[in-house]
Order: sequence, then structure tokens, then C-alpha cells
Amino acid sequence: MNPRYITDINMLEHLSKEEKEKLEPVVEKYPFYANTYYLGLIDWEDPNDPIRRIIIPSNDELRNGGALDPSNERRYTVCRGLEHKYGPTALLLVSRACGGVCRFCFRKRIFMMDNDDAVPDLKEALKYIRGHREINNVLISGGDPLMLPPKRIRRLISTLDSIPHVRFMRIGTKIPAYNPHRIIGNQDLLDVVREFSSSEKKLYFVTDFNHPRELTSQAKRALSQLQDAGAVITNQTPLLKGVNDDERVLSELFNGLASMGIPPYYVFQCRPTVGNSTFSVPIEKGYSILEATKENTSGLAKRSRFIISHRTGKLEVCALTGENIIFKYHNAAREEDTGRVLVFRRNENATWLDDYTEMVESFSPGDTAFSAKQRRLSDFLGAATTERTAHEQETLSPT
Ligand code: SF4
Repeated sequence: MNPRYITDINMLEHLSKEEKEKLEPVVEKYPFYANTYYLGLIDWEDPNDPIRRIIIPSNDELRNGGALDPSNERRYTVCRGLEHKYGPTALLLVSRACGGVCRFCFRKRIFMMDNDDAVPDLKEALKYIRGHREINNVLISGGDPLMLPPKRIRRLISTLDSIPHVRFMRIGTKIPAYNPHRIIGNQDLLDVVREFSSSEKKLYFVTDFNHPRELTSQAKRALSQLQDAGAVITNQTPLLKGVNDDERVLSELFNGLASMGIPPYYVFQCRPTVGNSTFSVPIEKGYSILEATKENTSGLAKRSRFIISHRTGKLEVCALTGENIIFKYHNAAREEDTGRVLVFRRNENATWLDDYTEMVESFSPGDTAFSAKQRRLSDFLGAATTERTAHEQETLSPT
């Protein structure tokens, strides 16, 4: 049965009148949106229930700090709804709606008034992609693309598919977790997947399961129907305090997904977005949790990478030594940083790359002579640091 969508916390019968009143300033700032299926997964007896943390607002969201656009997506937006940060990949934001609003959303700006970042100018976006032959794949995201009617999804995919240099597409979606009923038996949608999943080209789905309790029988049916239609599915999740910052929880999630043929892909460090500090786990603690998780998982789950989606690129957290932490650019915004390794003195309280201030070494395959000890992160980041200063002015003050 299709769930009912709920946009007003006053409709939540499990919250007391006092709780609802306390949450008013939160939902005025960051909208609440959920559905009866997902709300049904909450154990309301447990105030720290992980599913509750994902979807129910909390007053901790009003804590100071963070930016509206912490990865500086605006800097790489080439026309409305289209970002191009890494040569071969274009990111198309196609929807302002999701099956629910995650309280830790790093793109929560798109749910706010007067923001049209996820309302694409498709004509311009497609013209840009056509004109940039280095783009060989398009990541379709939002919001959630599966909130669009199948007809629109088909039109979009079919247009992208007609561009010869676009070799494959990925759809980023949390719908299998938020509302699997939108997929189960939805022949129009499954036909689209079938049509664009051939032996030559595959349609990828990057799902967003954050906790093993989201892997319900309905979610598994939805995933299985997508796979039967030819989709290749991988999963990514941020590391979230009080949700999945525990190796037992993560290994259960990874093993559950791997048994369905869905290997875990990225595990993201929670971005310093406004309202998100309550979910943030220190990077070094997160690394240790992921290493412990790998002890209980197969080689498939070990393929996941712990990633910081920084404004300068995607950095993998590679290793800790007694004194240092080692990062490597998995994707770099600047060509000269491709494959660059950064070594910093450890900082157990760091929750973002910028919290590491003492650089020990920086090396990229393209480097020649280099005196790392004279450089600090701010020197290394150069122009990007200036961008950040301007960007941080967007930070919202708490109400
Ligand atoms: S599904 Fe993704 S875009 Fe939608 S609210 Fe959650 S984190 Fe944000």
C-alpha cells in the first residue's frame, strides 16, 4: 500500500504537545517531511532510535556552525542544476523532492525557500554535456530523481543516452529506503530501467541505506525488482553519530547489502552543513569504526572507501599512524592534485579536513622538488581557501 506523506509534525501522534512546540523553530528553519511507511520503522519507545534520528527533527539542529553549501557546489555549477567538478563526471540535480527529508541532509538548501539549485535548466545542461566530450558519465541526483514520474525519468535518461560520449548514468536515490512502494510493481519505472540496461550500457542506482533496519522485506523487494530489470546497485552512506557510528551496525548493514548483491561504495564523513553538527563523528574515530567494521565483513564490504567530500575534491581517509593521518585525493577539483597524498599530524577532534593544521607532507605523482614542512593547509589550498571565506559567509545563525 502506498504510504501517506506527512509534512506537519503536528500530525505525529507519537510526539507530545510539548515536544511538538519545542520543535517548531527547527521545522520553521529546516522543513520536516516524512511518510507513514518510514515513520512505521521507528521504535517510539526509544528516544535514541536511529531511524527516529534520521527523520524526526531535533533541537540540536539549531546549534551554531556549518555552511549551507559545505562542499562549495556553487563553485562548480556551470548552469542551473548542473555541476561539473571532476572531468569525466557531470552531476545533474533534477528534483527538489525526496521520500523524506533526512535531518543530516548536506543539500538541505534545496528544500529551503527561494532555492532553485535542483530545478535544472535542462536545455542548457544538456547543451553543456553535449559540448564537453570529456564527460563520460552523468550522476542524476537532487533531491531524489525517483520522485519524478517515470515518463519524465525516461525522457531524461533517453536524452542523456543519445549523447554518444555519455557511457553510463547513475541515479542517486533513497527511495528504496524511504518508500519502496514507489518501486515495487511500478512497471512504468521498471520498464525504464529495463530499456536502458543493456549488455552495452548499464543504469546504476546508488542507494542511501544508512541503517540495517531500513533493509525491510519491502525494501528488499524493491531492490530485487530493480536488479531483475537490469540495474546495477551500490550503496553509500554518511557516517552518522547515533545512527551508524558503530561497527556492529555498519557490518550488519554492509553484510545485508552484500548478500543482495549490493556492495557498499562510499562512506562519507558527515559534511559541516548547517544543522548537522549533532551527527558529526570525529574523522579518526570514524576511521577506526570502519576498520573494525571490515573485520566482520567480506572482501566485498571492504571495498567501501571512507571519503571526505571536500571543496577541493574527494579525499579518501587512507590510514592512521601513531602520529599522523594520511589522506589521498580520490577525485581532485584541480588537475595538479590528482592522486595527491596529504599527511597531517593527527587531531582526534577533527571533523573536517580544515581542522588539520599541521601538514607533514604532501606529494602528488606530478610533484618535483617540494618542501612540505614549510607549508600549511591554507598555503596548499591557496585559492580554495579564499573561496571558503566568502562561502562561509553563507553560514546561517541559529534562531
Ligand atoms: S535523500 Fe539525500 S537529498 Fe534527500 S534529504 Fe536525504 S540526504 Fe538530502
